[in-house]
Amino acid sequence: MDCRKVLEKIDSTRMYKRIVEIASLGPRDTASPGDAASREYVLKEASNLGARTWTRSCRVVRFRAGATSLKVLEPVERDMVVLPQDRCDPTPPGGLVGEVEYARCGREEDYKGASACGKIILQDLWGLHMLEKVRVALDHGAKGLIWAHSRPGNKQSAWGLAQDGPSLPVVGVSLEDGDWLKRAVGSGPVRVRVDVEVSKEPATSDHIMAEVSAPFDSAEAPASLDSRPAVLLMAHRDTTHVSPGASDNGSGLTVVLEVLRAFSGVSLPFRLAGLFAAAEEGGGLGIGQYAESGLANDFPRIEGVINLDMVGVGSKLLVVKGDRRYRTSARINGLLEESASALGYHLGEYEMPMGLADITPLVARGIESTWLFKPDDPRFHTDQDIPDFVNPNDLKAAADIVASTIWRLAQRT
Ligand SMILES: [Zn+2]
Repeated sequence: MDCRKVLEKIDSTRMYKRIVEIASLGPRDTASPGDAASREYVLKEASNLGARTWTRSCRVVRFRAGATSLKVLEPVERDMVVLPQDRCDPTPPGGLVGEVEYARCGREEDYKGASACGKIILQDLWGLHMLEKVRVALDHGAKGLIWAHSRPGNKQSAWGLAQDGPSLPVVGVSLEDGDWLKRAVGSGPVRVRVDVEVSKEPATSDHIMAEVSAPFDSAEAPASLDSRPAVLLMAHRDTTHVSPGASDNGSGLTVVLEVLRAFSGVSLPFRLAGLFAAAEEGGGLGIGQYAESGLANDFPRIEGVINLDMVGVGSKLLVVKGDRRYRTSARINGLLEESASALGYHLGEYEMPMGLADITPLVARGIESTWLFKPDDPRFHTDQDIPDFVNPNDLKAAADIVASTIWRLAQRT
């Protein structure tokens, strides 16, 4: 069998159909009914393609959003449409009234010269991980946060906050309303009332593992004694509470399923498995727990991990080279780049300003990992992350590059 035979099995129409089916389940925020439906969907698809599947439970927080509003009281009265952020705190009865201060993207240096204590802090969305924005704001005594969306179009977005630890009431406004607030703050005091009705309770969700390894050698021991290292293809299953998640991360799910399907029954010198992670949104709590306990049992030796998160919408497909703390695997990145170039695809590079999402706890443990990503989807984390905007051929490009990389890894192992 040669690599072309594997690539011929990868079908963009089938991948796109899965995205339509996944998005039709609605938002799949952690431990919600949509999350449970996506669990069943992935298990069924994985067994249909011939994978051996199993699950691992993780402890999460089930978030429920209620009525949320923001009213500007001064300098003029004005109502804004807002979204509560997943797992943010509720406001006290009667709402949270306070003066607004603007602190760019919420880094430590963005608070220089600002008096944040007791105030509601307006921030731009991009540039710092959400958990860090909340932590730094708490350090400065902020009472609440307003996050301005990063793209025009009067859209509000929802982002995941921590599954544990201290939080704040946090709402998202559109870029346009954020700009209005910034201008108002620049010319005098701005007072707002924010009301956020939300609830949080302990719950569980599941990671799904799907292995398609065929014996490399017919004399090989049975699967239970399989001592080969594993190559893992990872895609998170969850979304925030407003998003149908077509690209984030229906795209990653369908590409991983399709690559597993293409390799089903193919002999490789390593185990090949999909890792469909729970609870990524808000700091990768789910994969963090699995990395602590479960992963080493399921996969005692790991050759490498390729994460697919948001590959369906946007301009260039990029390989994430690292963030401020960690570097992704130079070896796997090199193979991805070689594969893309040999197939005639363009693959760019990206430095992540906000953390490495689900590969962070893996890279921190020295596991060779990397991430394929399209960072410029204008609708991600909004209710407009729908299949209409996904280009099926983008899925084919990502799947071809990953499959060819697995093939190259097999030749060199
Ligand atoms: Zn994602």
